[in-house]
Amino acid sequence: MAKPRADITACDHLLATSGGTPYPFCTESVLDEQAGVTDAIVRCRTCGQAYLIEMLDWSGDLFERRRFRTSHLDDDVVEKFMHNRRRGSCDINRVGAEWFAVQSQAQLTDLELTLDVRRAVVLEVRRLPAETDIPMAHWRERLR
Ligand SMILES: [Zn+2]
Repeated sequence: MAKPRADITACDHLLATSGGTPYPFCTESVLDEQAGVTDAIVRCRTCGQAYLIEMLDWSGDLFERRRFRTSHLDDDVVEKFMHNRRRGSCDINRVGAEWFAVQSQAQLTDLELTLDVRRAVVLEVRRLPAETDIPMAHWRERLR
């Protein structure tokens, strides 16, 4: 569990998104998926801020309704990751290490996104109350 830092907030473009609209971000890299994205590096379409989104839980007949925690990423972290990914690796441990590097440098925000990953629309955007403890373990360890 972790609490979002008070001085790190998501950009207004994500915060101002209302339910039912298309994603306000583009996807730079999908880190994990299960019948749709579960973890990804995304970038705001308006200001270009990069984020790590990581699934908290899912619901719906096709598990299409997914809640995500959202963390800020600096451009140099994203660039390093994309550079390494382009170079390619068959070593699964290396891929894991690069993903871990992204996670460890991501800064948690209080923004919770609920997305429909089949229709690629935002269902809900909300700021979590201060001091909310957000689960940080990967969903594959929490959802079984
Ligand atoms: Zn933005």
